[in-house]
Amino acid sequence: MSHPPPLRRLAVVGAGWAGLSAAVQATRAGAQVVLFDMAREAGGRARSTPQDGLDLDNGQHILIGAYRDTLALMRQVGVDVDQGFWRQPLALVSPDGSGLRLPGGPAVPAFVRGVLGWTELPWRARLALLTHAARWRLGGFRCPADWSVAHLCERLPRAAFDALIDPLCVAALNTPAREASALVLLTVLKEALFGPPGGADLLLPRRPLQALLPAPALTWLQSRGGVWRPGHRVQQLAPTDGGWQVDGEAFDAVVLACSATEAARLLAGPAPDWAATTAALAYQPIVTVWLRHPGLRWPQPMMAFPAQATPGLPAPAQFGFDLGQLGLAPDTFALVISGAAEWVDRGTEQTVHALRLQLRQAFSGRLPAWEDGKVSVLTVRTEKRATFACTPGLRRPSGQPLPGLAVAGDYVAGPFPATLEGAVRSGRLAIEGLLQA
Ligand SMILES: Cc1cc2nc3c(=O)[nH]c(=O)nc-3n(C[C@H](O)[C@H](O)[C@H](O)COP(=O)(O)OP(=O)(O)OC[C@H]3O[C@@H](n4cnc5c(N)ncnc54)[C@H](O)[C@@H]3O)c2cc1C
Repeated sequence: MSHPPPLRRLAVVGAGWAGLSAAVQATRAGAQVVLFDMAREAGGRARSTPQDGLDLDNGQHILIGAYRDTLALMRQVGVDVDQGFWRQPLALVSPDGSGLRLPGGPAVPAFVRGVLGWTELPWRARLALLTHAARWRLGGFRCPADWSVAHLCERLPRAAFDALIDPLCVAALNTPAREASALVLLTVLKEALFGPPGGADLLLPRRPLQALLPAPALTWLQSRGGVWRPGHRVQQLAPTDGGWQVDGEAFDAVVLACSATEAARLLAGPAPDWAATTAALAYQPIVTVWLRHPGLRWPQPMMAFPAQATPGLPAPAQFGFDLGQLGLAPDTFALVISGAAEWVDRGTEQTVHALRLQLRQAFSGRLPAWEDGKVSVLTVRTEKRATFACTPGLRRPSGQPLPGLAVAGDYVAGPFPATLEGAVRSGRLAIEGLLQA
């Protein structure tokens, strides 16, 4: 005799990447899914919206080869990952051509060869990087939970810290090294730099984010009986005998995959302690500036910009992307300012001014020339709550606060910082938790 599926009717609240992941996994497990989102479009913080005839992402996103759950989910819903991304071994190269370039192949030899070949970095700094990495690896990439990244690296020469650890930290944790959790950074290094071959590969989107998951996932879900309810901001969750009501509609179970602030509001009554932990999370902004520069092509699609290349000259952006080369938007460049609290305070005008000075200085004397007179600003997008601040000893809320209710989202307790992979993984774990219960 066959058993009915343990999840029959499931509500998923929030159609960001965590909610989409949960909805797909639940559908695969035989559930009938109703997916709510207060926005008209799915995708949450990783969505694309039209601007001047282009589909611009909410902010430039980078994926890496170690994003196993995310890449598997894309394939599951029919995305051609090979076509969707520009893939290359990790290269953090500045306009002057200096920087770390990892060769392909197994992680440890690739890292050693990459660091030894980084000739612009003094010998002492290169050796210190290798000995630190060896020590972290021997220690199982663990450290006390209350250590900051700055503390973890206090014996690393400044040159190595500035050239590698600081940019990796702000890119992955979106939190300045002095405030960022060393334990989470070590997990990222383990997964990305010292995991299976290809984990450190950069995957730069060659399609708008919408085409890389939200749109195909919705098509996949709807073709399997899933129901999509855009423009519905869920107001109330209430437990019932053996299930949950979502705005008065009965479900067997719920996955709460909305923002942390909305989840805290919705669970303030049913799970007050959980809601208080969630409401206490702090956030870090990201500012993305899109510039147009006719006729320019960078030597590679992604460039790293050294912090404070010139003393006294502020350097807001850490990374830049040539969207023309990625086939997304001709003559268009996305400049990313992570951990951007200072720049949000200074305002858009000052930020753009400082960015133009930074680029003029970074490209000065290089070919092809970056001519400030040819540059125009396409748009600036500021996400004030881009990610939670990934600080030492942070208490993150659990993904299983109540029977029949799981929570998914990049902020839910887990080893990773706020990333697409963290979000997608939490969606899968939410469904696995409900099925086990
Ligand atoms: C500018 C920027 C750049 C980033 N860069 C990277 C990067 O390079 N690499 C990387 O891995 N990650 C990056 N991230 C992080 C990544 O985008 C997030 O970790 C991920 O998108 C989080 O997904 P989520 O589903 O957890 O949450 P969200 O995307 O926030 O989804 C939550 C959804 O819930 C909906 N919602 C909220 N309340 C309700 C309600 N009451 N009822 C119904 N719906 C509701 C919202 O509309 C939203 O669609 C970046 C983020 C930003 C903002």
